[in-house]
Amino acid sequence: MIDQKLVKAGQSGNIIREIAEYGAKQAKIVGEDNVYNFTIGSPSINPPDCVFETMEKLTASMSPAKLYTYAPAIGFPEVREKTAEYLRNTFGVPYRAQDVVVTCGTSTCLAALTKVFLSGGGRAMTFTPYFMDYKYYADSHGEGLIECPTNPDTFQIDLDVTEKTLTSDTMMLILNSPNNPSGVVLKREGLEGLAKLLEKKQIEYGHPIYIVADEPYRDLVYDGQEVVFLPTIYKNTIYCYSFSKNISLPGERIGFMAFPPELDDYSDIYSAAIAAIRSFGYICVSSLWQRICVECLGATSDISIYKSNRDLLYGSLTEMGYQCVYPDGAFYLFMKTPEPDAEAFCRRAMKENLLVVPGDSFGTPGYVRIAYCVSPDVIKRALPVFKKLAEEYGINK
Ligand code: PLP
Repeated sequence: MIDQKLVKAGQSGNIIREIAEYGAKQAKIVGEDNVYNFTIGSPSINPPDCVFETMEKLTASMSPAKLYTYAPAIGFPEVREKTAEYLRNTFGVPYRAQDVVVTCGTSTCLAALTKVFLSGGGRAMTFTPYFMDYKYYADSHGEGLIECPTNPDTFQIDLDVTEKTLTSDTMMLILNSPNNPSGVVLKREGLEGLAKLLEKKQIEYGHPIYIVADEPYRDLVYDGQEVVFLPTIYKNTIYCYSFSKNISLPGERIGFMAFPPELDDYSDIYSAAIAAIRSFGYICVSSLWQRICVECLGATSDISIYKSNRDLLYGSLTEMGYQCVYPDGAFYLFMKTPEPDAEAFCRRAMKENLLVVPGDSFGTPGYVRIAYCVSPDVIKRALPVFKKLAEEYGINK
């Protein structure tokens, strides 16, 4: 028998890709410059120099046979040691080499940990708006994702709503800050309140609740905003990091997860996570790229372009009468649509070759996500189209 749940999931498609593909087709007809594509969260700036310098050093000093050899299933010992050392020195949490597992981005961490916590009957919860793949993992391995609304004016955590939404079988809470799709960075106050609430609920429910900190955008923050390192405020946190966005290497598929030594049921969770990774075949991550990435921990790409894109887009759109929560990080703006049906707005924008994606895919109808990891020229050319739509909808001031 074929798993019909999987068949359905595979057939459900991905609206982001669908709109992006439409954009690619349109570009051939009207010319690339006349399509304003804000659909895909793929970095538009180059990786930092350390990537190329390390690559050169490695290729000059190692034989190809050694360089491209199979890595151990969960990463080279020296890569895991250097990562643990970096985390210890930067955040003061006493990670050891054995606590670090090298992965294919945070996707691997999320898929594996969802399997670990949900296969036995637990539930996963996350805050809205959220990255759509969380739902995919939760649907594949368990009874689906519990969506917890945030404060609609700020997308910050609402502790009362969170307390009401938590269920006695919640095992895993996925937190993503800076957030895809809102760009919001979760504030320390809300996170500390959340940590206290979870500590209380663990006692009430009689089992641990684990935070999975999904942080592919940790280093993409503007104006010196603090991104709280969750393991320092809540010990049952598994930290997941990726080099995809932070240093612009999405295609190389490198990231890691780190289990704090004092994690409850450490040994079972760690063993199960490794087995889950293996069961998916996500083992032996690229030897060359894990060696490069570890040398670039702490380095960032030049994110000044994202910041100026953010400033231009946020300033212009709000001036035109659109409403958006101010994004402190990542490279997304989540804009309220002038009509409640976000997909209808997207289709109307598509007719003008303006491509954005509906918030329904992120558990939040009535919004669109604008990925501004594009050249500033694309934004400049797209602004008159946003203005035209604002006028048509009568929201312009
Ligand atoms: N989590 C979030 C919030 C994302 O936006 C993405 C990618 O867009 C991922 C996880 C997966 O990233 P990767 O597997 O490349 O690290």
